Amino acid sequence: MKLRYRLKTIPLYARILIGMVLGIILGLAALALHGEQFITDWIKPWGELFIRLLQLIAVPLIFVTLVKGVAGLKEISRFSKLGGKTMLLYLAFIAASVVFGLILGSVISPGELVNQEVASTLQAKYESTIANQAATAIQVHSRGPLHFLQEIVPSNIVQAAASNSTILQVIFFAILFGVAALLVPEQQVRPVLALFEGLDGIIMKMVGFIIDAAPIGVTALMAALVTDFRGDVSVFSALGVYALTVIVGLLIIMYVFYPIIIRFFSRTKVKAFVRAMYPVQLFAFTTSSSAVTLPVTMKTLKEKLGISDETASFVLPVGVTVNMDGTSCYQAIAILFIAQVLGIELSLTQMLTILLMTILSSIGTPGIPGGSYVILAMVLTSVGIPPEGLALIIGIDRPLDMLRTAVNVTGDATVACMVDGK
Ligand code: ASP
Repeated sequence: MKLRYRLKTIPLYARILIGMVLGIILGLAALALHGEQFITDWIKPWGELFIRLLQLIAVPLIFVTLVKGVAGLKEISRFSKLGGKTMLLYLAFIAASVVFGLILGSVISPGELVNQEVASTLQAKYESTIANQAATAIQVHSRGPLHFLQEIVPSNIVQAAASNSTILQVIFFAILFGVAALLVPEQQVRPVLALFEGLDGIIMKMVGFIIDAAPIGVTALMAALVTDFRGDVSVFSALGVYALTVIVGLLIIMYVFYPIIIRFFSRTKVKAFVRAMYPVQLFAFTTSSSAVTLPVTMKTLKEKLGISDETASFVLPVGVTVNMDGTSCYQAIAILFIAQVLGIELSLTQMLTILLMTILSSIGTPGIPGGSYVILAMVLTSVGIPPEGLALIIGIDRPLDMLRTAVNVTGDATVACMVDGK
């Protein structure tokens, strides 16, 4: 009990970083003592269990948050002009970030740095999934140009919800459901919305439990990564280049893209914006949660940048749920990296699916530490990449999570400055 209490007082990020280091030490020790089998039998399954939990929560999370998000847009109709503009800007920002991530990930191709031999071992391991995926790609090729619409519209929602690979269909149903709820008289729909409100609380609690288990998952996955690849340097240098690619992408969005937008499309001065946002970014960086940062973002924008109360209290909370530019850019690079390591060539259709899924699921990503793992597992499955590939990147994810959260909150603030007073 006491130990548990003490562990709880260590912040999550520190526990995850300790998990990372512990995993590496464990893996190296196993290599030195020839205990690889021990890691495979007794340690790795905990990491796999962690990934299963992430997959488990994906469908309920995305369904409930989307219905709640769309049905909650009633607020938007009150602010109709501001609301429409804000939503459009958010969607455009997310799309731009994903496209930027896809370009960066394809140009730098960090996954191709992995030694050919290691890559073929991995590919052999996931052979059946990859082969299925290739077969689907061929089928897709021989279908008509509008066939993708059938992939989005389910003929049976229970069947769609039964597989993580058809999550796009669940998203479609959730949006339709939410829109219909918006149009039914308030009195009639109130109990259903209250139910979703309650479900959202419960699911977020469950996500909290799973994220709390992240340090154990990270230790296990890191140890397995070291033994599975026998400390192969190419894997770790590829991971390093992958992390650098994400960092460069995020820094460009934060220090080049946003300032340009602020300069040309808002009345705020770039210098004042950068200066005011610095403490907010630092707060987001240390907490890794855009939701927790929200009050700080609001206060700063109102007090330091003179953004009106009305704009701040509408644009920012919506942004925390909908707009995650850092997360979107990161997801694109992470998906490409895993595909490259596993030797999966992504077709244009798959790239477009990634774009669409990332935009839509950005709305479903909770603004909490590691919120995007759940979504990433889901997007991977839906484009036919084995979600086990997540094991490659989760170990080193925490620092990237910190930086992408800082980008997420800066994106919300940028849009608030753009729409304020217009
Ligand atoms: N931690 C991020 C946020 O709160 C979400 C994520 O990308 O994991 O904005």
